[in-house]
Amino acid sequence: MYEFTLTNSVNDAVQRLCRQTGWTKIRRIMIRVGGIREVNPELMAFIFAAAAKDTPAEGAVLSVMLLPVTVKCRSCGKISARDDSDFACSFCGSRNVQILSGLEFNIEALEVESNNPSYD
Ligand SMILES: [Zn+2]
Repeated sequence: MYEFTLTNSVNDAVQRLCRQTGWTKIRRIMIRVGGIREVNPELMAFIFAAAAKDTPAEGAVLSVMLLPVTVKCRSCGKISARDDSDFACSFCGSRNVQILSGLEFNIEALEVESNNPSYD
């Protein structure tokens, strides 16, 4: 399942950060995912809870921010935002479009509990 791959890559990145910084407790992880990826946030949260068990991120909340897909029409030149995977222009219906965004996948922010003042 696609969600496993993405969620495990988030978990790997967070674990690596924890090792580098000495963070012992992660409270929340906010990630941004473009609409083209069509992820299921509930499923990702579920997978993450299992993956993070016995790590500093155990019990952390995984917040998934879904971003719209934006396309620029090559026929009429307008930009439309789609929240589905039908990448047609909302104005003229043309499928001759350029995808401007929708493939994002990144960690936006972390909420960390730390005893180390240099990382507060
Ligand atoms: Zn158009």
